[in-house]
Amino acid sequence: MPDAFKYSRILLKLSGEALLGAADYGIDPIVLQRVAGEIAEAHSAGVQIGVVIGGGNIFRGAGLAAAGMDRVTGDHMGMLATVMNALALQDALEKLSAKVRVMSAIRINDVCEDFIRRRAIRHIEKGRIAIFAAGLGNPFFTTDSAAALRAVEIGAQLLLKATKVDGVYSADPAHHAGATRFDILSYDEVIERKLAVMDTAAFALCRDHDLPIRIYDMGRPGNLMRIVRGEPIGTLVQA
Ligand code: UDP
Repeated sequence: MPDAFKYSRILLKLSGEALLGAADYGIDPIVLQRVAGEIAEAHSAGVQIGVVIGGGNIFRGAGLAAAGMDRVTGDHMGMLATVMNALALQDALEKLSAKVRVMSAIRINDVCEDFIRRRAIRHIEKGRIAIFAAGLGNPFFTTDSAAALRAVEIGAQLLLKATKVDGVYSADPAHHAGATRFDILSYDEVIERKLAVMDTAAFALCRDHDLPIRIYDMGRPGNLMRIVRGEPIGTLVQA
């Protein structure tokens, strides 16, 4: 592990929206390549990386339920959407010569491995990027919760939440001109100020296990490398 890096093992949470680009559905191949390039760069520099990917660019259970579908069925579709995104990211990373394994929380063995914690850690230790698909495998959860759980399970030193904004603000910067960005927040401050960092279950898991969360803008090239080098990009939430 080169001295220049602050973190040797990270868990990166990518929302499905991260793959949308300008479209409102599906995967933009140019955006996918760029995201894969950022991950591959940090990985080839020696950082061990697990990725949890969402599915919101394809299906979300809550949205399908609002349109009249059974919620559990909708959540199953949402989880399958995350598997599709994971396969797309695997493909893009492999085109950059990275070694990758997709591991799913629901059994779908013909296309990827099952999530088995010890095997996931082994993959990461052997220099493979592990992409964790299908969230927690249960309905009524989100991939934020999966990101928190997998981060704790693999012993990540940092949970990185990649978003379209450059951190956590005191109010929505799109609607409040005076909104200010926090550089650093404690878990308690996030709760007291009712800041939407992650969903409550995910956040509670991070807090209980003292896992720092960094929320950052993934649209700015080079941010992932800056963060693993220890630069204070975005907002850090910690004890
Ligand atoms: N999902 C689920 N259980 C999980 C993770 C995800 O049922 O453990 C479903 C849920 O319907 C969710 C969808 O998969 O809306 C896609 O995940 P998410 O909304 O977290 O994706 P993101 O917003 O990160 O793109």
